[in-house]
Amino acid sequence: MSAKGGLVCPKCGSESVIRIQYGLPSHDALEAVGRGEVILGGCCIGGNSPQYHCKECQNEWGKMRIGGEIYDDIVSFQAEVGGHLRECYFVTADWETKKLSYQVGSSAKGYVTKFERELKAEGWQQLIENLKECSFVFWLDQYEDHTVLDGTQWSVRLKLTDGEIIEKAGDNSFPAYWEKFCTGIAELVGERFE
Ligand SMILES: [Zn+2]
Repeated sequence: MSAKGGLVCPKCGSESVIRIQYGLPSHDALEAVGRGEVILGGCCIGGNSPQYHCKECQNEWGKMRIGGEIYDDIVSFQAEVGGHLRECYFVTADWETKKLSYQVGSSAKGYVTKFERELKAEGWQQLIENLKECSFVFWLDQYEDHTVLDGTQWSVRLKLTDGEIIEKAGDNSFPAYWEKFCTGIAELVGERFE
């Protein structure tokens, strides 16, 4: 499983990770500092303020997501939508390797790669714009509706320049801009994604 919530250092892999707290510390916060559970980051939070600190290698990462400035830091993207009783679609776009791929599958037959091709700058820009327009940073981490069985599951996973992974997922429950998001992905790959 990946470093969910950023609690594994993306640089050295250590789990000795603590949260950085900003603002004037409360009495409780000071005690937590004393126990080595948090460190203080000063009183001012900016868009570049990291949220996590690795006690092993002193790496700090996990920018506050103010104003959605993660968009410039995305290096790879993957999105999947599907379910047990329906077709599944899987898209990956990687800006480091400049590759865009599209797979179709089902739980019975497995996945088949329909294409893997060069990811052009316009395509990458289009993808980032789609994430922005769909307010991706404001999506919840998890959307769930347990009243429906065997419906549609989805997930979207981003990797940032500092190695941090952002993953959002859902089970028969979707963010407000889900349809718009899917339309944007379908346009990018020129195939179905819904
Ligand atoms: Zn580390």
